[in-house]
Amino acid sequence: MMHKKLFIPGPTEVRKDILDAQAQPMIGHRMKAFTELYTGLISKLQELLQTQSFVTVPTASGTALMEAAIRNCVNKDVLCCTYGAFSERWFKIAKACDRAADAIALDWGKVVKPEMIEEKLKAKKYEAVAVVQNETSTGTRAPIEEIADVMKKYPDVLLLVDTVSSLMGDKIEIDNLGIDVCVTSSQKCFALPPGLAVGIISEKALKKAETVSGKGHYLNFLDIKDYFDKKGQTPTTPAISLMWAMDKQLDKMKAEGMENRYKRHLEMAKYVQEWAKKHFSLFPEPGYESVTVTCISNTKGISVADLNTELGKRGFAISNGYGKIKEQTFRIAHMGDLTLDEIKEVTKNIDEILKL
Ligand SMILES: *Cc1c(COP(=O)(O)O)cnc(C)c1O
Repeated sequence: MMHKKLFIPGPTEVRKDILDAQAQPMIGHRMKAFTELYTGLISKLQELLQTQSFVTVPTASGTALMEAAIRNCVNKDVLCCTYGAFSERWFKIAKACDRAADAIALDWGKVVKPEMIEEKLKAKKYEAVAVVQNETSTGTRAPIEEIADVMKKYPDVLLLVDTVSSLMGDKIEIDNLGIDVCVTSSQKCFALPPGLAVGIISEKALKKAETVSGKGHYLNFLDIKDYFDKKGQTPTTPAISLMWAMDKQLDKMKAEGMENRYKRHLEMAKYVQEWAKKHFSLFPEPGYESVTVTCISNTKGISVADLNTELGKRGFAISNGYGKIKEQTFRIAHMGDLTLDEIKEVTKNIDEILKL
């Protein structure tokens, strides 16, 4: 079967050398070889993300770390800001963990503003605020820098941020912003196969975890940190093969340079946004467009399914809308290792198929 190059917001296209890096003879996760692999991985992540915080790579998808952030950092009151499918997930998770979640619920396509959060924080004492920085379902980017500024006035309130579809593509200064738990997964901007999550956990979050009960077992931050400090390993058996791929990918990111990587993502975003505005319109609230995925309003009423079938014959896949805006929108992801030339190729093929 012909491979369709992925312009979908996860899993993203994985380059052949990265796929190949997984195929090595297995090692034991209590062997020195694993400690070297894993501790190397963690220092490379800290270096590329310019963070001093504790970094962990659990074998799980990103959602597991969202749940862990709630379970480790919130006893009771958390404020969830919702404006799309993944930000609504924060709220659902908090409820499912028996936490007393409140929501700032906005229409899909909008993003939360710092003053909305401040109003809530003035009115009630919350333990944490949960935000999605890049809402993949609507292609929006929340103003995390401004939100972080407001949060600095409330040092007892933790900031939990889902950067699943943006970290490593969109510049997020985790330490400067004071993000307490930053969550991502391997299959988006890392351009790796799915199966690993990455969590960046502040000192403040670890301190808070000491006071929280019902942290669970698998993703108990304190146990994970303790195991890492003592052994340089993970408490349970990790996806070692995926970690080889991540290790190689981190070396490639360093070679590209993170600033160049962020610039490449911005260039791709600008290009797709211009293309979309010319032929359709953008779904997000103006000024808050994502750097890694463009959500396009289907103003021409095209059949996205038919378009994708035709694109598939040419070796490309884009994405339909998500959830309740499935028919109303479609999405082109420009994240991971994709280049501007590849993006131009996909829009050129769409132009040809739709006779735009
Ligand atoms: C993909 C995605 C998730 C879910 O990640 P999984 O790795 O599938 O659990 C969460 N939040 C956002 C913003 C996403 O794009």
